[in-house]
Amino acid sequence: MKIFHRFTMDPVDPYVDMFKTWGVICDTYSNGVEVYFDEAHEKTAEILAIKDELKKTPGVVGPHGWWVDFTEEEILAEPWAEMRMTHESYYPQPQKHMEWKKQVYENVCPAKWCGVGFHQKAPFRFAREFRMGRYHFITPYVVNEVFAVNRVFEVLQAEGIRGWETLEARIPNGQVSQAVKQFQFPHLAKAGLLQLERYPVFTCEQCGVSKYRFHERDYFYFPEHAFSSESDFWVMQEWFGQGRFNADRRLVVSRRVVEIALREKWKGVAFRGVKVLPVRSAP
Ligand SMILES: [Zn+2]
Repeated sequence: MKIFHRFTMDPVDPYVDMFKTWGVICDTYSNGVEVYFDEAHEKTAEILAIKDELKKTPGVVGPHGWWVDFTEEEILAEPWAEMRMTHESYYPQPQKHMEWKKQVYENVCPAKWCGVGFHQKAPFRFAREFRMGRYHFITPYVVNEVFAVNRVFEVLQAEGIRGWETLEARIPNGQVSQAVKQFQFPHLAKAGLLQLERYPVFTCEQCGVSKYRFHERDYFYFPEHAFSSESDFWVMQEWFGQGRFNADRRLVVSRRVVEIALREKWKGVAFRGVKVLPVRSAP
């Protein structure tokens, strides 16, 4: 497991040159420099001290984030993993005023910063047929939904993988996409994520539901009864997100799904570590 740090800073800052001599990646954009490094880097303490010093001047240093890369061995050592989409393209339609949202979802909490609680009531529509190139999986922009090419569904079916259904994707002129279909995952985790205190939380005043931000420095921990062999796909109970009206639930898959994805070299998905912990029953 490798933990990466990322923050942005003022592009003219002289520290950028020093960071570069230390082998830290500094990508320059129009409005800043993105500093990116492995936490195992020998200069981590120095970099973070400089960042904290610069932070005393407002606006010089942007938000500091992390993410974790797991090795294949780490993922395959556990019975479950989080599956995350890595290839994003195509806007749901009608795009104007996010009209698609009213057509596709029901029960979206309209409160500012919320957006939880939705349920899909209709297929997504797109402006043209999908061209998938070398990708097997895709998620449309602004949503976290799983679409895949037919080959993926054929393999999962042949392998006896359980707990998924498909829904057509609509394209213009009353047509249905022949390139992709959307996954539907009917199984909700039987117990929630553990150690929720590590996840920054926003609780909506209107609907009372909590929305979490990812804790990006570790595995996800669940009680062992959260998932069972009844399904290879489980949707987390928790809602995640940080946008104004954006929220979604994340997907946990069995080791068999991971093994198949790696064997088939499926592109457009990545996996993150999940550990299940024994939880003592009440005396
Ligand atoms: Zn709400």
